[in-house]
Amino acid sequence: MSKRRTTRVVRKGSVPIGGDHPIAVQSMTNTPTADVAATVAQILELEALGCEIVRVAVPDRASAEALSAIRAEIHCPLIADIHFSHRLALAAIEAGVDGLRLNPGNLKKPEYVRQVVRAAGDAGIPIRIGVNSGSVREREQLEVVDDEAELVPLMVDTALEYCAQFEALGFSDIVLSLKASSVLATIEANRAIATRCDYPLHLGVTEAGPPGVGTIKSAVALGILLADGIGDTIRVSLTGPPQREIDVAYDILASLELRERRHPEIIACPTCGRCEYDLAALVERVQEMVRGAPPSLTIAVMGCVVNGPGEAKEADIGVAGGKGSAYLFRKGKLLRQVPHERLADELMAEIKKLTQS
Ligand code: SF4
Repeated sequence: MSKRRTTRVVRKGSVPIGGDHPIAVQSMTNTPTADVAATVAQILELEALGCEIVRVAVPDRASAEALSAIRAEIHCPLIADIHFSHRLALAAIEAGVDGLRLNPGNLKKPEYVRQVVRAAGDAGIPIRIGVNSGSVREREQLEVVDDEAELVPLMVDTALEYCAQFEALGFSDIVLSLKASSVLATIEANRAIATRCDYPLHLGVTEAGPPGVGTIKSAVALGILLADGIGDTIRVSLTGPPQREIDVAYDILASLELRERRHPEIIACPTCGRCEYDLAALVERVQEMVRGAPPSLTIAVMGCVVNGPGEAKEADIGVAGGKGSAYLFRKGKLLRQVPHERLADELMAEIKKLTQS
C-alpha cells in the first residue's frame, strides 16, 4: 500500500473529506426526490447500512422544494445533484443542502456558474465538480474517444479548468471526481489529477453496470487507486437498489484495511465434488443471520474434511462438512458433530454465545 495522498480537507456537513479522515462511503437515492417520504425512508435505510453521505437528484423545481423537508428527517449530509439549471442549484443551496455535485460545463453560461459558486461560498458549503468521460466527449464534440490516451488528458484538463474558474471566484471548497465507465480511464484520470492538485478526490466508476460486473469494475478501479493512496470518498454505482452499494463499498475498503468491515467475515470454500451438503444455502443463511453481529468475527463454512477443519479451526466459529453431519469448531476447538439439518441453527447458537460472552 502506498502512503495516502496529501489533500486539503473539505467538510460536507458533519463529514470531513480528505486529509487523514476515513474514506467516506456515499451513495445516491433512486426514489423520485419530490417524494419526500420515499426518499427519506431510503436514506434512513442507507444510513443504517453505513452510508455517510447521500446524494439526491434534483431534476426539477418539485425536487428542489423537497430538499429542506428531506434534510430535516435525515442525519447524514445531503448533497444535491444538479445538471443544466443554475436556478435549481441556487434553490438547493437555499433549501439548506450540505453540498452540491455539479458539472459546471452544463450550466450553460459562465455567469450562471459564478452565481452558484458565490451562493455556495456564502452558504459555506462545498461543491463536487464532477467530470465524466461522457460529458468531456460532449464538450469537446468528439464522437468517439476510445483511446484512454486521448480521453484522460481531456478529463484532467477539464477538471483543472473548472477548478481555476472556481478559484478565480475565491472558492476552493472543492471535491473532484473524474469518472469513466472504463476502468482503465478511471484509474489513469485519477492518477493524473492526483499529481496536479490537492483537492480531495471522490472515486467511482460511472455506469459501472449491474451488481455482478459493476462490483468487479468498481473493486478493480477503486481498489487500485486506493492502494495507490488515492481517494478520499467513494461511491460504488450499481444498477438497482442503492442499498447494496454500501456493502460493496465497505468490502472494498475493508479488503485494503482502510475501514473496518460492517459485518462478520465469512470464509467459505467454493465447493467441489467432495462437498456433501448444500453449502451455498447455508452460507446465504449465515450471511443474513449474522448481519449486525460484531464485524471482528470470522466464520468459516467449509465443504469437507480436506481443507475444512484447518480453516474452520482458525475462524472464531467454523464448520467443516462431512457425510450426514458436519464438525463444529469454536475458537479452534472441536465442539461436536452436528447433523446437517441442524447445522444452521447450532452455528447461530454458537455465534450468539460467542458474541454474548
Ligand atoms: S473444502 Fe472440501 S468441498 Fe470445499 S472446495 Fe475444498 S475440497 Fe472441495
